[in-house]
Amino acid sequence: MKKVWMVLLLLVVAIGLLSVRSRALKPQNGHSIWRTAWTYEGPKGPDHWADLDSEYAACNGKEQSPIDIRSAQKADLPPLRFEFKTAPLQNYINNFYTVRVNYHAPGSGDFMIVGDARYQLVQFHFHHPAEEMIHGRRDAMVLHYMFQSSDGKVVGLAVLLQPGPANATVQKLWDHMPKNVNYENDVPGVEINPADMLPPGNRYSYYTYMGSVSAPPCTEGVKWFVLKTPATLSAKQIATFAKLWPNDARPVQPINGRVVEESQ
Ligand SMILES: [Zn+2]
Repeated sequence: MKKVWMVLLLLVVAIGLLSVRSRALKPQNGHSIWRTAWTYEGPKGPDHWADLDSEYAACNGKEQSPIDIRSAQKADLPPLRFEFKTAPLQNYINNFYTVRVNYHAPGSGDFMIVGDARYQLVQFHFHHPAEEMIHGRRDAMVLHYMFQSSDGKVVGLAVLLQPGPANATVQKLWDHMPKNVNYENDVPGVEINPADMLPPGNRYSYYTYMGSVSAPPCTEGVKWFVLKTPATLSAKQIATFAKLWPNDARPVQPINGRVVEESQ
């Protein structure tokens, strides 16, 4: 009889170790992540974001993202380098608008390095279809990595995604897609490395311009880097995301005289 109890106890412990641990996202500044609901279509859609909440006023700003990159100035820009680590899949969240993996300060030690500036990875997430366009071309999806420097500068990296070979890291994410909304999930036994979703090669040519967060509150002052070379997902992987998020892309915004620079 004692043995049976031991086995049962071990079973309970094992299940506990293997199951996803979830935490409700803490309300920030006394309200939930977004004080006012918004959508990608209809009366609370992108044309109305600025009117929905005074906190979203920047959505009517002059330096908004995404954009269609139709012309760019060649410039002597520093190469992009990445210091990304393999780590357990944690803080994985379905925030209703997309899936996102959060990296909480102080630091997982994942960085993008641009010249002598270091930016720490804060989160990455996906959009379907892609938000950024290049010469009017819209890709199937885009992966946005968001970074922050120690002095608070926000930087976005856009990796356009086209149909092609499957991506193994994205497959791990899709296999553990969070069903609950606004919970951070730790997924036991699964490790990912953000580097494994970058396009192949280690020389990243890119466009760069000043824009904004591409969803409310549309905060400006975000320096965007859009990689010229897309990465790939399989058609099935794209379809899996598209079924859950048929449209979570903000339309392209006016350039308003901004200059897009292009690495040599
Ligand atoms: Zn995004």
